[in-house]
Amino acid sequence: MAVVTGGGSGIGAASARRLAREGAYVVVADVDGESAARVAGELPGEAVAVTADVSTEAGVDAYIRAAVDRFGRIDLHHLNAGVLGTMAPLPDVDPADFDHVIAVNLRGSFLGLRAAFRRYREQDGGGAVVVTASISSLRGADDQLPYQTSKHGLLGLVRGAAMYGGPRGIRVNAVAPGLIPTGIFAASGHADRAQTLALRGGTTPMRRVGTVDEIAGVVAFLLGEDASYVTGEVVSADGGAFMVNTVVR
Ligand code: NAD
Repeated sequence: MAVVTGGGSGIGAASARRLAREGAYVVVADVDGESAARVAGELPGEAVAVTADVSTEAGVDAYIRAAVDRFGRIDLHHLNAGVLGTMAPLPDVDPADFDHVIAVNLRGSFLGLRAAFRRYREQDGGGAVVVTASISSLRGADDQLPYQTSKHGLLGLVRGAAMYGGPRGIRVNAVAPGLIPTGIFAASGHADRAQTLALRGGTTPMRRVGTVDEIAGVVAFLLGEDASYVTGEVVSADGGAFMVNTVVR
């Protein structure tokens, strides 16, 4: 049984589809309840949609409760909900925007990890978690400070949680996508930027952007038995972009 946050669109929706195809019951949690319901309704197996803001304890409680009420337990978490925030150079970053991005991306993942660990403790102790980090967790950019800060912070969360989870049979890993055309750019008022980034996909070693299914495949691997000896790891899925010494503008 798997929970996917931010499952209403993009990478999260692809992850929900992939996990459902592999036989998991899925709870699709998203602040946009309509999208979550649409995705859950299209999954092949049993699925539940939950409207939940992951930056709040009430939101996290809501999706955990829904999963336990319907399926009795949770085995896998994909903590994926995220926002890009406003692109701006440092002197122009709005503190309210900074707080919002940190609240969703970092606090939301902290609350999600804490809830996952509490749930695994109440069950048989084992479980797996994947957090959606980013290529922005690993390198600099000059106009996405809140996002980059939140995504760097996720690596601390993942490593700390993996240290604590190791002896308890809980694996925690991160996937770090490169450029994946999704709604995240438009949702942050950067529809044009999506096009720019898609063009920049041409500068990656693989000369293209990625697809949501290519990220979902890594998530399924990290959550699955084939990754049974993998924890505290950050797996890049970026067409080799991290190797290239360029700043994303
Ligand atoms: P997306 O906008 O399609 O999906 C993000 C989802 O998160 C949306 O359905 C949105 O409604 C939901 N969401 C936003 N705030 C929320 C909240 N407070 N509570 C619950 N749900 C919330 O974008 P995506 O590209 O699929 O993003 C998924 C994850 O992938 C994000 O964490 C993002 O930072 C990360 N990521 C994306 C890219 C990329 O190029 N698209 C690259 C690296 C990392």
